[in-house]
Amino acid sequence: MGKVWFVGAGPGDPDLITVRGRDLIARAGAILFAGSLVSAAAMRWAPAGCEIADSKDMTLDEIVAWLIARAQANEVVLRLQTGDPSLYGALIEMAQPLDAAGVELGVVAGVSSAMASAAAAVESLTLPEVTQTVILTRAEGRTPMPDGESLEDLARHHCTLCIYLSITLLARVVGALRAAGWRDDAPMLVVHKASWPGEERIVRGTLADIRDKCRAEKIGSQAMIIASPALGARRWPDLKKSKLYDATFTHRFRRASE
Ligand code: SAH
Repeated sequence: MGKVWFVGAGPGDPDLITVRGRDLIARAGAILFAGSLVSAAAMRWAPAGCEIADSKDMTLDEIVAWLIARAQANEVVLRLQTGDPSLYGALIEMAQPLDAAGVELGVVAGVSSAMASAAAAVESLTLPEVTQTVILTRAEGRTPMPDGESLEDLARHHCTLCIYLSITLLARVVGALRAAGWRDDAPMLVVHKASWPGEERIVRGTLADIRDKCRAEKIGSQAMIIASPALGARRWPDLKKSKLYDATFTHRFRRASE
């Protein structure tokens, strides 16, 4: 019996898979990839003869059955997922039946789209004395939000919000932030297909105009919404600096110079 690996493929550009993930692809006997987001280019490292399939038309039961059957015939079987497998990836729903079938499994972390979006826009999700907290969440769609996790509740923290799976619900997102007291001029960032070669698009706006800007850019899918008081800080003249590099601050590796 082989082992099933849930591997984060990263946000789109195949270069953003980890070295560990790439090495597992190179050793894989079978790979099942999530076709809608994972670029087929990620399979460029698969060995000759590797069975490669797209899960886009499969139900969860079919995916699990596929993985178990391949693990009976191959040492290394991959479930290649977009971004990081621990975020909105149905990991536990697949792990439970694999556990029940006695199939060993492992997970390889990936670069999540929130991180790739911040990188694309050269933004920091945390900033001294502005916000030190990032919430990874989504707007309520068909999947209900648990108590206390409505976007409006979370937005009351006025920290950075990385909002997955919600670009078609942008009106709802804007409404929730308003209800939580975010001002009309609060900066917003939407990144479509972060890191995808030639397809990435970055839209900057405010709470008041981000919907119009996304509509004008025809962005209706595969996008990360980031709302944060730290957005745009690259151009701030009066930035509060990090203590770590402060000349008057002593820490384990350096004594204060003043
Ligand atoms: N596990 C993935 C998230 C899967 S949910 C991760 O860690 O990134 C799918 C959502 O992720 C999309 O609706 C979108 O909000 C976001 N997403 C995935 N890839 C993206 C990309 N390249 N650019 C922007 N957003 C992306």
